[in-house]
Amino acid sequence: MQKRKELYSGKAKSVYTTDDPNCMVLSFRDDTSAFNGEKLEQLEGKGAVNSQFNAFIMQHLEASGIPTHFIQQLSPNETLVRSMEMIPVECVVRNRAAGSICKRLGLEEGKLLEPSTYELFYKDDALGDPMINESHAITLGWASSEQLEQMKALTFSVNECLSSLFFQGGMILVDYKLEFGLYQGEIRLGDEFSPDGCRIWDASTLEKMDKDRFRQNLGNVIDFYKEVGSRLGMTFEG
Ligand code: UDP
Repeated sequence: MQKRKELYSGKAKSVYTTDDPNCMVLSFRDDTSAFNGEKLEQLEGKGAVNSQFNAFIMQHLEASGIPTHFIQQLSPNETLVRSMEMIPVECVVRNRAAGSICKRLGLEEGKLLEPSTYELFYKDDALGDPMINESHAITLGWASSEQLEQMKALTFSVNECLSSLFFQGGMILVDYKLEFGLYQGEIRLGDEFSPDGCRIWDASTLEKMDKDRFRQNLGNVIDFYKEVGSRLGMTFEG
Protein backbone atom coordinates (compact mmCIF):
# COMPACT_ATOMS: atom_id res chain seq x y z
CA MET A 1 0.00 0.00 0.00
CA GLN A 2 1.57 3.27 -1.17
CA LYS A 3 1.25 6.30 1.11
CA ARG A 4 0.45 9.36 -1.05
CA LYS A 5 -0.32 12.88 0.11
CA GLU A 6 -1.02 14.29 3.55
CA LEU A 7 -4.73 14.98 3.81
CA TYR A 8 -4.87 16.41 7.27
CA SER A 9 -2.65 16.93 10.26
CA GLY A 10 -4.32 16.88 13.67
CA LYS A 11 -2.82 17.52 17.12
CA ALA A 12 -1.23 14.08 17.44
CA LYS A 13 -1.85 12.23 14.16
CA SER A 14 -1.48 12.89 10.45
CA VAL A 15 -3.72 11.31 7.85
CA TYR A 16 -2.47 10.28 4.39
CA THR A 17 -4.26 9.11 1.28
CA THR A 18 -3.11 5.87 -0.34
CA ASP A 19 -3.37 4.39 -3.84
CA ASP A 20 -6.66 2.79 -2.68
CA PRO A 21 -9.42 5.40 -2.18
CA ASN A 22 -11.03 3.16 0.47
CA CYS A 23 -7.92 3.19 2.67
CA MET A 24 -5.91 5.81 4.52
CA VAL A 25 -2.76 5.77 6.63
CA LEU A 26 -2.81 7.20 10.15
CA SER A 27 0.61 8.30 11.30
CA PHE A 28 0.90 8.71 15.08
CA ARG A 29 3.31 11.51 16.04
CA ASP A 30 5.14 12.24 19.28
CA ASP A 31 3.31 15.59 19.64
CA THR A 32 1.31 15.76 22.84
CA SER A 33 -1.16 18.50 23.64
CA ALA A 34 -3.61 19.37 26.37
CA PHE A 35 -5.99 22.17 27.31
CA ASN A 36 -7.12 22.67 23.71
CA GLY A 37 -3.56 22.95 22.42
CA GLU A 38 -2.26 25.37 25.10
CA LYS A 39 0.23 22.85 26.54
CA LEU A 40 2.33 21.27 23.79
CA GLU A 41 5.31 18.92 23.99
CA GLN A 42 7.05 16.17 22.08
CA LEU A 43 7.23 12.96 24.09
CA GLU A 44 9.77 10.64 22.52
CA GLY A 45 8.28 7.32 21.48
CA LYS A 46 4.66 8.31 22.06
CA GLY A 47 3.66 7.95 18.40
CA ALA A 48 4.90 4.37 18.23
CA VAL A 49 3.47 3.40 21.63
CA ASN A 50 0.04 4.88 20.91
CA SER A 51 -0.13 3.42 17.41
CA GLN A 52 0.58 -0.10 18.71
CA PHE A 53 -1.66 0.40 21.75
CA ASN A 54 -4.48 1.50 19.46
CA ALA A 55 -3.94 -1.45 17.10
CA PHE A 56 -4.17 -3.92 20.00
CA ILE A 57 -7.39 -2.35 21.34
CA MET A 58 -9.04 -1.99 17.92
CA GLN A 59 -8.34 -5.68 17.17
CA HIS A 60 -9.71 -6.67 20.57
CA LEU A 61 -12.88 -4.64 19.88
CA GLU A 62 -13.27 -6.14 16.39
CA ALA A 63 -12.93 -9.61 17.91
CA SER A 64 -15.79 -8.66 20.27
CA GLY A 65 -18.02 -7.67 17.35
CA ILE A 66 -17.48 -3.90 17.35
CA PRO A 67 -16.85 -2.59 13.81
CA THR A 68 -13.83 -0.28 13.56
CA HIS A 69 -11.84 1.43 10.81
CA PHE A 70 -8.70 -0.59 11.65
CA ILE A 71 -7.16 -2.73 8.89
CA GLN A 72 -3.54 -3.38 9.84
CA GLN A 73 -0.41 -2.03 11.50
CA LEU A 74 2.10 -0.93 8.83
CA SER A 75 5.06 0.17 10.96
CA PRO A 76 5.61 0.99 14.64
CA ASN A 77 3.76 4.33 14.29
CA GLU A 78 1.59 3.85 11.18
CA THR A 79 -1.74 2.14 10.76
CA LEU A 80 -3.82 1.37 7.68
CA VAL A 81 -7.50 2.23 8.19
CA ARG A 82 -10.70 2.39 6.17
CA SER A 83 -11.41 5.92 4.83
CA MET A 84 -14.44 7.18 6.67
CA GLU A 85 -16.56 10.27 6.65
CA MET A 86 -16.14 11.31 10.28
CA ILE A 87 -19.08 12.44 12.44
CA PRO A 88 -17.97 15.57 14.36
CA VAL A 89 -19.35 14.33 17.68
CA GLU A 90 -17.24 12.95 20.56
CA CYS A 91 -18.90 10.28 22.70
CA VAL A 92 -17.68 10.10 26.32
CA VAL A 93 -18.51 7.40 28.88
CA ARG A 94 -17.56 7.90 32.50
CA ASN A 95 -17.39 5.11 35.09
CA ARG A 96 -15.91 7.42 37.72
CA ALA A 97 -15.78 11.19 38.02
CA ALA A 98 -12.61 12.89 36.76
CA GLY A 99 -11.70 15.87 34.59
CA SER A 100 -14.35 18.20 33.25
CA ILE A 101 -17.35 16.58 34.99
CA CYS A 102 -15.80 17.32 38.39
CA LYS A 103 -15.63 21.03 37.58
CA ARG A 104 -18.98 21.16 35.79
CA LEU A 105 -21.01 19.36 38.46
CA GLY A 106 -18.83 19.87 41.54
CA LEU A 107 -18.08 16.15 41.93
CA GLU A 108 -15.20 14.69 43.90
CA GLU A 109 -12.61 12.98 41.69
CA GLY A 110 -13.04 9.20 41.86
CA LYS A 111 -16.76 9.18 42.69
CA LEU A 112 -18.32 6.01 41.26
CA LEU A 113 -20.84 6.81 38.54
CA GLU A 114 -23.46 4.06 38.47
CA PRO A 115 -24.90 3.65 35.92
CA SER A 116 -22.07 5.11 33.84
CA THR A 117 -22.75 8.50 32.28
CA TYR A 118 -22.81 9.25 28.57
CA GLU A 119 -22.02 12.68 27.13
CA LEU A 120 -21.67 14.20 23.68
CA PHE A 121 -19.33 17.01 22.62
CA TYR A 122 -19.16 18.89 19.32
CA LYS A 123 -15.69 18.41 17.85
CA ASP A 124 -14.59 21.97 17.17
CA ASP A 125 -11.30 23.33 18.51
CA ALA A 126 -12.25 26.96 17.89
CA LEU A 127 -15.28 26.50 20.17
CA GLY A 128 -13.35 24.36 22.70
CA ASP A 129 -15.40 21.18 21.97
CA PRO A 130 -18.65 22.30 23.67
CA MET A 131 -20.97 19.79 25.30
CA ILE A 132 -24.08 19.12 23.20
CA ASN A 133 -27.09 16.83 23.27
CA GLU A 134 -28.63 14.61 20.61
CA SER A 135 -31.10 17.26 19.52
CA HIS A 136 -28.24 19.63 18.61
CA ALA A 137 -26.56 16.91 16.56
CA ILE A 138 -29.79 16.05 14.70
CA THR A 139 -30.91 19.64 14.07
CA LEU A 140 -27.47 20.77 12.92
CA GLY A 141 -27.15 17.75 10.63
CA TRP A 142 -24.11 16.12 12.28
CA ALA A 143 -25.80 12.73 12.68
CA SER A 144 -29.25 11.17 12.38
CA SER A 145 -31.18 9.95 15.35
CA GLU A 146 -30.59 6.35 14.22
CA GLN A 147 -26.84 6.95 13.89
CA LEU A 148 -26.74 8.53 17.35
CA GLU A 149 -28.54 5.47 18.79
CA GLN A 150 -25.96 3.18 17.20
CA MET A 151 -23.07 5.33 18.43
CA LYS A 152 -24.44 5.18 21.96
CA ALA A 153 -24.96 1.41 21.86
CA LEU A 154 -21.45 0.87 20.45
CA THR A 155 -19.91 3.22 23.02
CA PHE A 156 -21.47 1.19 25.84
CA SER A 157 -20.42 -2.11 24.21
CA VAL A 158 -16.86 -0.75 24.20
CA ASN A 159 -17.28 0.00 27.91
CA GLU A 160 -18.26 -3.57 28.72
CA CYS A 161 -15.48 -5.00 26.63
CA LEU A 162 -12.67 -2.70 27.78
CA SER A 163 -13.64 -2.25 31.44
CA SER A 164 -13.21 -5.99 31.92
CA LEU A 165 -9.99 -6.08 29.88
CA PHE A 166 -8.43 -3.31 32.00
CA PHE A 167 -9.78 -4.85 35.21
CA GLN A 168 -8.03 -8.13 34.38
CA GLY A 169 -4.81 -6.10 34.13
CA GLY A 170 -5.39 -4.58 37.58
CA MET A 171 -6.63 -1.24 36.22
CA ILE A 172 -9.79 0.86 36.23
CA LEU A 173 -11.09 2.38 33.01
CA VAL A 174 -12.27 5.71 34.45
CA ASP A 175 -13.54 7.39 31.27
CA TYR A 176 -12.85 7.57 27.54
CA LYS A 177 -13.75 9.41 24.36
CA LEU A 178 -14.73 7.75 21.09
CA GLU A 179 -15.29 9.10 17.60
CA PHE A 180 -17.30 7.39 14.89
CA GLY A 181 -17.49 7.66 11.12
CA LEU A 182 -19.35 6.24 8.16
CA TYR A 183 -17.79 3.64 5.88
CA GLN A 184 -19.99 2.67 2.93
CA GLY A 185 -22.95 4.02 4.89
CA GLU A 186 -22.22 1.98 8.06
CA ILE A 187 -21.17 3.37 11.45
CA ARG A 188 -17.71 2.25 12.56
CA LEU A 189 -15.43 3.28 15.40
CA GLY A 190 -12.70 5.62 14.12
CA ASP A 191 -9.91 7.83 15.45
CA GLU A 192 -7.87 6.04 18.14
CA PHE A 193 -8.13 4.37 21.51
CA SER A 194 -4.98 5.09 23.50
CA PRO A 195 -4.04 6.53 26.92
CA ASP A 196 -4.24 9.97 25.24
CA GLY A 197 -8.02 9.72 25.06
CA CYS A 198 -9.02 7.84 28.17
CA ARG A 199 -8.31 7.77 31.90
CA ILE A 200 -6.83 4.65 33.46
CA TRP A 201 -6.00 4.21 37.14
CA ASP A 202 -4.16 1.44 38.93
CA ALA A 203 -6.95 -0.55 40.63
CA SER A 204 -5.24 -0.79 44.02
CA THR A 205 -3.30 2.49 44.36
CA LEU A 206 -5.53 4.63 42.06
CA GLU A 207 -2.32 5.99 40.50
CA LYS A 208 -2.93 7.79 37.19
CA MET A 209 -1.56 5.95 34.16
CA ASP A 210 -2.93 8.07 31.28
CA LYS A 211 -2.62 11.55 29.75
CA ASP A 212 -3.40 13.17 33.11
CA ARG A 213 0.30 12.43 33.84
CA PHE A 214 1.08 14.96 31.10
CA ARG A 215 -1.75 17.39 31.92
CA GLN A 216 -0.79 17.45 35.61
CA ASN A 217 3.01 17.26 35.14
CA LEU A 218 3.24 13.92 36.99
CA GLY A 219 6.15 12.71 34.82
CA ASN A 220 7.10 9.36 33.20
CA VAL A 221 4.19 9.65 30.79
CA ILE A 222 5.39 7.13 28.20
CA ASP A 223 6.67 4.65 30.81
CA PHE A 224 3.15 4.55 32.22
CA TYR A 225 1.54 4.16 28.77
CA LYS A 226 3.85 1.18 28.18
CA GLU A 227 3.08 -0.25 31.62
CA VAL A 228 -0.66 -0.12 30.83
CA GLY A 229 0.01 -1.86 27.53
CA SER A 230 2.21 -4.56 28.99
CA ARG A 231 -0.39 -5.32 31.69
CA LEU A 232 -2.84 -5.93 28.82
CA GLY A 233 -0.36 -8.25 27.11
CA MET A 234 1.16 -5.85 24.57
CA THR A 235 4.77 -5.78 23.49
CA PHE A 236 6.09 -2.63 21.86
CA GLU A 237 8.61 -2.17 19.05
CA GLY A 238 10.23 0.94 17.61
N1 UDP B 1 -10.97 13.51 25.78
C1 UDP B 1 -10.25 13.43 24.61
N2 UDP B 1 -10.26 14.49 23.75
C2 UDP B 1 -10.96 15.63 23.99
C3 UDP B 1 -11.68 15.71 25.20
C4 UDP B 1 -11.67 14.64 26.07
O1 UDP B 1 -9.62 12.42 24.33
O2 UDP B 1 -10.93 16.56 23.15
C5 UDP B 1 -10.98 12.37 26.70
C6 UDP B 1 -10.17 12.64 27.96
O3 UDP B 1 -8.84 12.17 27.81
C7 UDP B 1 -10.92 11.83 29.01
C8 UDP B 1 -12.37 11.84 28.52
O4 UDP B 1 -12.31 12.16 27.13
O5 UDP B 1 -10.47 10.50 29.03
C9 UDP B 1 -13.23 12.85 29.25
O6 UDP B 1 -12.59 14.12 29.17
P1 UDP B 1 -13.11 15.36 30.00
O7 UDP B 1 -14.46 15.78 29.49
O8 UDP B 1 -13.03 15.06 31.46
O9 UDP B 1 -12.15 16.54 29.60
P2 UDP B 1 -10.66 16.88 30.10
O10 UDP B 1 -10.71 17.00 31.58
O11 UDP B 1 -9.82 15.73 29.62
O12 UDP B 1 -10.37 18.16 29.38
